[in-house]
Amino acid sequence: MSQQPYGPGVDKYIEAGKRQIAFREKAMKRVKEFKFDTLAVHGLYTVEEALALNQGSIIEPLYMSSSQAYRDSAELEAALSYLIPTWCYTRIANPTTYYLEWMLALLEGYGTGADTSCVVTASGMAAIASAVDPFFVKQKDGPERMNFVSSIQVYGGTFQLFAVRKQRERGIEVRWIRRPHDLEEWKAAIDEETRLLYVEAPSNPQQAFCDVKALADLAHAHEIPLIFDATCATPALLRPIAHGADIVLHSLSKTAAAGGMAIGGALISRKPIVTRVRNDSPLFKDSFAEYVKFFPYRDHGPAASPFNALITLNELRTLRSKIDLFSRNTQQVAEYLAKHPRVYQVDYLGLPVHPLHSLAKRYLKLVDSDDGSGREVNRFGHLMSFRVDGPPENARRVFDAFKLIFRATDLGRVKSLATIPSVSTHLQQGEEARRAADIPPQLIRLCVGGEAPEDIIADLDQALKSL
Ligand SMILES: *Cc1c(COP(=O)(O)O)cnc(C)c1O
Repeated sequence: MSQQPYGPGVDKYIEAGKRQIAFREKAMKRVKEFKFDTLAVHGLYTVEEALALNQGSIIEPLYMSSSQAYRDSAELEAALSYLIPTWCYTRIANPTTYYLEWMLALLEGYGTGADTSCVVTASGMAAIASAVDPFFVKQKDGPERMNFVSSIQVYGGTFQLFAVRKQRERGIEVRWIRRPHDLEEWKAAIDEETRLLYVEAPSNPQQAFCDVKALADLAHAHEIPLIFDATCATPALLRPIAHGADIVLHSLSKTAAAGGMAIGGALISRKPIVTRVRNDSPLFKDSFAEYVKFFPYRDHGPAASPFNALITLNELRTLRSKIDLFSRNTQQVAEYLAKHPRVYQVDYLGLPVHPLHSLAKRYLKLVDSDDGSGREVNRFGHLMSFRVDGPPENARRVFDAFKLIFRATDLGRVKSLATIPSVSTHLQQGEEARRAADIPPQLIRLCVGGEAPEDIIADLDQALKSL
């Protein structure tokens, strides 16, 4: 007989825990048969679970409690040794956040054939930091130096995190890729000290895009992971894991929670990821999101508020139809702006003149749609930008004249919003980096929401008349 390492009574709880896991696995098997919309509406919260555990409430319970109580010391020991399903303390886990984590893991895994896991964080930036940090650890007999390769066309906060926090303050070299669709540029940047590839697509605000599959294949040929920020696409348009990406990141604060009432982030990983970084925990490779949740996340503390998790969960139920509507509206607005004489450039992946249109068409497809011949229809999301003719003051004049469109450094909302990135989201990174990322002061980023597109066009029209 093997020696019993735990206190008396722990076994009983382990057995009860196994039954609970079996109950969840049964539910999981069933929901994996669902279509995307059904998954988004229900996630793992079943009728059975509502009746058994939650007084029949049709909406997932909101657990604001900081911690969980245990029956006795044996259950406490089983829980804190991670031997049974438990949530313990809201910095570590929470039952409301749990439903959101599973919802996102299932939506990102939808139709990919891959198993996935997810950890939800307090913000998108916390998810990004949680995703890259575990790869920047010194290896026992590996090289001292390390680098990572990233598209320069990333969210302003991501640029700061990489350029300042990682490179300047920590000495971890970031090698910037200027044209993320150019595989040769990536190839030339990778060496044996490279820990990961990082890309954001479609990017904010430049509409950069990449060949997801080719990039994942390149990463895997070097035994490193591809980390993908898919905030702007959402799983309704692109599930990078289907094309080989290892880790997917979202700012849930944006399109996922389009109503604009919650900040949050998510890290979803495929099981297993590709990496040559060694770690004592087998979860690191086998279920990276769970590794992050059980260890560094527990120690760093970027947990989401359960209240924000519930708001996000509620928003995700209609994700597919919202993205469809916003994308169709944006297409109309982009076509209008492309014809306007005071606008010299419109960047929207949905316009056939966009140099990356055909590449984006291969990847951005509305999940579970049908164009009549059995193919999914293309949708290109609701982020676009346009450049106003003349000096930068002209762009400001147009921007200041909006009456319906809100001026805000935000995106992905049901309400249309605009910003001038050079004086807001991309201010900190300086002139030179903005030039490298192609963000001139004439550029206005516009995110089209759920209003009637005629009304948005009328607002743009009157604002452009102010020139
Ligand atoms: C906003 C944003 C982030 C950061 O998310 P927060 O929730 O604001 O921390 C990361 N990536 C992209 C593409 C974003 O738009």
